[in-house]
Amino acid sequence: MTDVFGDLVGQDEAVATLRHAAASAAALLRAATLGAAGAGAPTGGGDPDGYDDLDALAEQFDGPGDPDGPGVTGDPGATAPTADPVSADPGAGMTHAWIFTGPPGSGRSVAARAFAAALQCVHGTGCGRCPGCHTTLAGTHADVRLVVPEGLSIGVGEMRALVLRAASTPSGGRWQIVIIEDADRLTEAAGNALLKAVEEPPPRTVFLLCAPSTHPDDVSVTIRSRCRVVPLRQPPAGAVAEVLVRRDGIAPDVAEWAAAAAQGHVGRARRLARDPEARQRRDAVLAVPRRLTGVGAAFDAASALIEAAEAEAAASVAEADEAERAALQTALGAGGTGRGAAGAMRGAAGQLKDLEKRQKSRATRAQRDALDRALVDLAGFYRDALTMALRAPVAPVHTDTATLAAAGAQKWDAEGSLRRLEAVLECRAAIETNVKPRIAVEAMMLSLWRG
Ligand SMILES: [Zn+2]
Repeated sequence: MTDVFGDLVGQDEAVATLRHAAASAAALLRAATLGAAGAGAPTGGGDPDGYDDLDALAEQFDGPGDPDGPGVTGDPGATAPTADPVSADPGAGMTHAWIFTGPPGSGRSVAARAFAAALQCVHGTGCGRCPGCHTTLAGTHADVRLVVPEGLSIGVGEMRALVLRAASTPSGGRWQIVIIEDADRLTEAAGNALLKAVEEPPPRTVFLLCAPSTHPDDVSVTIRSRCRVVPLRQPPAGAVAEVLVRRDGIAPDVAEWAAAAAQGHVGRARRLARDPEARQRRDAVLAVPRRLTGVGAAFDAASALIEAAEAEAAASVAEADEAERAALQTALGAGGTGRGAAGAMRGAAGQLKDLEKRQKSRATRAQRDALDRALVDLAGFYRDALTMALRAPVAPVHTDTATLAAAGAQKWDAEGSLRRLEAVLECRAAIETNVKPRIAVEAMMLSLWRG
C-alpha cells in the first residue's frame, strides 16, 4: 500500500511524526466542525460552518515548546485510532510552522509536500487517492502554495504577497498551506515578513519550510524557535535503489549503481539511471583526477568543469526563459495607440527588464547547482581513495572508478587522499560563500594536482 508518504525514502521516524501530526490536525478540524454544528454528526473538514470556531481552533494548537498542549482528547468525534495518543505524546501533535531539514536529496520538499497532502486529505491520513491528496501532490490544490526560489534568494515582495494570501480562509475548508523550498535562501527582509506570520499565525494557516539545517546561517534563530523541526537523514543507498526499482521501474543493477553514485540523493540517482547526458557529465567529472598532470592541465580541467556547468545550466533554463518571454510579450500585446499607450509601453519595458533580471538570477543559481553536483561527484572519488587507503570496510561511492581510486590510494596514501578530499570540500564551501566559481575551482585543481 502506498500513501502520500511512500516516496519518503528511509525516513521512518519523520514519517511517524508527520502521520501523527496529520491525525491530530484532522481531529482538530473535526472538533471545530462539531463545535460549530452542536452535537451534529461529524462531517469531516469540508463543512464551512467550521469557520465560526476558528479562534477556538487556534487555541487548540500547542506550540513547539509547549508540553501541556490540550490535544484533542475532549473531542467526542475523534474516532481515528491515531488521534488518541496525542495527549499522551504532545510533542507529536499539530502545530502551525514546521522546518524540514536534511542534506540535499534527503527529500525535504518531498516530505513537505507529502505532509501538505496528508493535511488536505479528506480522510486526514494522506491516503494518496482522494482529491485532496491528488491535487496537493499535483500542485493544483487551491489552498497549497509552493514557493520555489528561482534566483539566489527569495525577496521580500514575494514573501509579503504570499503571507497575505496565506491568511485567507481555506477554500477547501481544511488548511491554507505555504511550502517554502530552500527557506535558507530567504533574504533578511523576507525572513522578517515570514516571521511576523509565523509569530501570529492565522488559525488555519500552516507554514512548511525546507532548509539544509537549522544552523543560524540557514534559518534565523527566531523563526527556528517558532517551528517544529523534522530532521531527515541521508537515505541509505539500498533504500534509494529500492525506490528506483519499485516506483520508476529501473533495472535493479542500474538502480544499485545509480543509488551508490548519487550518494543518497534520490533525485540525482533517478537522473543518473535515466538520463544518458547526466551519465556523460559524470564520466567527464570523474576523468578529472586522471588528467591532472601539471599546472596547465589543472587550469584546463578547471575551465572544462566551469564550462560544462555553464552549458548544463544554460540548457536547463533555456526552454523556461523562452516560454516566459513569449508569454509576457503576448500578455503585453503588440503595438497599441491612443491614450495610455505611451504609459503602457513604459510599463512593458519595466516588466521585460524585471523578467530578464529574474532569469539571470535563475541562470546563476542553475550554474552553481550544476557545479556543486560535479564537486560532489569528485568528492566521492577522493573519499573512495581515502577509505581504500584506510582499508575501511565500506562500499565505494563510484564503483566504476574504483580501480582508479585504488591506484590513487596507493600513490597518495590516506593523508594525501584526505588532503585532496578536503580541497574539494573547501571549494564547495568557498563557492557557497560567494567566491567566484572559477577562482575557487582553479585553486582546487592546483591542490588536487600538488596534493
Ligand atoms: Zn487522501
